[in-house]
Amino acid sequence: MESESLLKEEAEPPGSVTKLIGPEDNSSPALLNNAFHSASVVLVGSGNRASHFKSSRSRIFRKKFYPQTTYTEWNDWRWQLRNRIRDFDALAAMFDLSEDERNALLRSPGQAMPLSITPYYASLLHGDNASEALRRTVIPVIDEYIHTEGESDDPLGEDHDSPITGIVHRYPDRVLFLVTDFCSTNCRYCTRSRIVGGHQDLFSNGQWEKGIDYIAANPDIRDVLISGGDPLTMADDKLEWLLYRLSGIPHVEIIRIGTKVPAVLPQRITPELTRMLKRYHPLFISIHATHPDELTPEMAQACTRLADAGIPLGSQTVLLSGINDDVETMKQLFCGLLKIRVRPYYLYQCDPISGSSHFRTPVTRGLDIIQGLRGHTSGYAVPSYVIDAPGGGGKVPLLPEYVIGRDGDDLLLKNYEGHIYRYPDCLGQNREIH
Ligand code: SF4
Repeated sequence: MESESLLKEEAEPPGSVTKLIGPEDNSSPALLNNAFHSASVVLVGSGNRASHFKSSRSRIFRKKFYPQTTYTEWNDWRWQLRNRIRDFDALAAMFDLSEDERNALLRSPGQAMPLSITPYYASLLHGDNASEALRRTVIPVIDEYIHTEGESDDPLGEDHDSPITGIVHRYPDRVLFLVTDFCSTNCRYCTRSRIVGGHQDLFSNGQWEKGIDYIAANPDIRDVLISGGDPLTMADDKLEWLLYRLSGIPHVEIIRIGTKVPAVLPQRITPELTRMLKRYHPLFISIHATHPDELTPEMAQACTRLADAGIPLGSQTVLLSGINDDVETMKQLFCGLLKIRVRPYYLYQCDPISGSSHFRTPVTRGLDIIQGLRGHTSGYAVPSYVIDAPGGGGKVPLLPEYVIGRDGDDLLLKNYEGHIYRYPDCLGQNREIH
């Protein structure tokens, strides 16, 4: 009832809509409406062009908890950053917190990664269900303080492979360039929780200069992945400075950006940003996506803008116990990503960071999910399942057993339905002319 009355109350000033739309915003209403049949899709404005999309969920949330906030303010990414939910009181005012969540939130600050949730992402969480998927990814519980064997603050040994602060040089022809320790929304299972949230002050302009100098001095580096923290939380001019400098290095062939912004702060993907990004092709973006509940009209619009700027989009998903560790949830997520032009790229086994045991699943769960997807849905919707080997071994792909053995020259293969087939794997032997 409350939701219905809030929906009826909604009346946005027309001016607040047109201000948000840039000349390059060609998002097709048909495409976005196809992507989301849900009744929550609301097209504001008039005429044939798409104006702006928003979900009823975020609208209701804004009306309830931010009644003085205008539609324009809500859709301003800087407003979203300024108004992040960062402490117990703010969270308790919005959510019916469980005892477990309360205890975790009230422990002394500084012991864990800080709480940080954008109001937009908070609008996607369930207010009274502590076991709901997205809520578990961003609100801490006491399990975070339980450390088990094999866990580490830096499980991937990134610090070991770091010749200078901010650069991780593990593979011969590419580097990870960590340019910020800031994220708009902090994921409780973050592999870089040792960095994220301002524990360190390592990402100054001077540090970036050193990183760029390192890349320029190593001609084998042809691929730079900009990550952090979340690089898309930086201002356009800072990001452009980095892209400009990196793209000026002759041996850097491609630049990639790793981000969760389209899911947690989609307002950041403005026409101005995409206009700037498209000047630095070939540029790729890997989007951290966790659960189909993230696939809102707002995220669809953000991804559409990036794709329309010619940026190939891939996704990275961490396998999380009780959150996305079943075939149906993953199928919805990966097929939903394809509909907004994001190709599922990696499914990661959750890294053994300190206090992560409640998030981790057995590897067999991930293999079962891949087996439940491969052949049952489009190949484009099936990512590579990998473990980032602890200690810096790099990504190791994991596959269900489709090759079950040999019978003479024949390879015995199991298909997606479990049927056995033979492949004559005897090229060059026993050849006859017919
Ligand atoms: S967006 Fe990425 S870097 Fe930021 S908190 Fe989440 S997992 Fe960590």
